[in-house]
Amino acid sequence: MPHAAPRLLLVEDEVRIAEFVLPALSAAGFGVAHVKEGASALAAALSGEYELVILDVMLPILSGFEVLAKIREAGNAIPVILLSARSELPDRLQGFQLGADDYLPKPFFVEELIARVRAVLLRRAGNESPEMTVGEFTLNKLSYNGTWRGTVAPLSQREFGLVECLMRSPNRIFSRQQILKIVWGINFNPETNVVDVCIQRVRKKLNRQAGDGKPFPIETIRGVGYRFRMEEGD
Ligand code: CA
Repeated sequence: MPHAAPRLLLVEDEVRIAEFVLPALSAAGFGVAHVKEGASALAAALSGEYELVILDVMLPILSGFEVLAKIREAGNAIPVILLSARSELPDRLQGFQLGADDYLPKPFFVEELIARVRAVLLRRAGNESPEMTVGEFTLNKLSYNGTWRGTVAPLSQREFGLVECLMRSPNRIFSRQQILKIVWGINFNPETNVVDVCIQRVRKKLNRQAGDGKPFPIETIRGVGYRFRMEEGD
C-alpha cells in the first residue's frame, strides 16, 4: 500500500512522556504525528492519514475514552492503544468495551509500547477480512476487485487506494489535497487533476447499472472534494 512506514498518531498532553516516546517510535521506523488534546486527536484519527492511534486517557477537552467512543461511533475501526495511569480493572474494562485494541498502564517502557504497536498492527493485518463492504459496495484486497450492485471490475492500485481511503471513513468529506497526500503521498500540488481522473475511472468501471436510479456511492462535493456515502441501514 502507499505508505512505506506505518503512520502513527500519538495523543499525549504530557510533554515529558511525548519527548521520550516520539524519538523512540521514529527510531523504530514509524512515522509519527503528535497532538496534545482530545478534539484535535479525534479529527486526526478520523482523517484517514494514520494506521494506529496511541491514546492517553487523561486529556484536556475530550478524554481519551470520549475520543475512542467518538471514533467508533463514526464507524471507524482504526486500531487504538490506550495509555493510562488509571490502570484499575474497571478502567481497563471500560477501554476494551469502548473498542480499544490494547491498554498499556503508565509508567511503561517504550520498548513495550513499540512491541504492542507491532503486535496490534500484525493482528489487525492477519484478522482483517480480505473484503471490506459498505452498503452495496465491496472491495476485495486480494483480487483488487471492486463490486457494486452486481458489477465487478478490477481496480488499479491507485483506484483501489482511493476507494479504500474514502470507504474507511464513510460520509467523511476528503479534499483533493487530503486524498493526494494519503493515496499518492504528494503533499501539495494544486495543478494536478489526477484525483478527479481516478474517480471518473472508478465510476466508469463500476457504475454501469444506472437504470434504477441508485446513485453511485462516491459523491462529488462541489468545491470541497469527495466522500463515500453511507446511508442509514447500510
Ligand atoms: Ca494525560
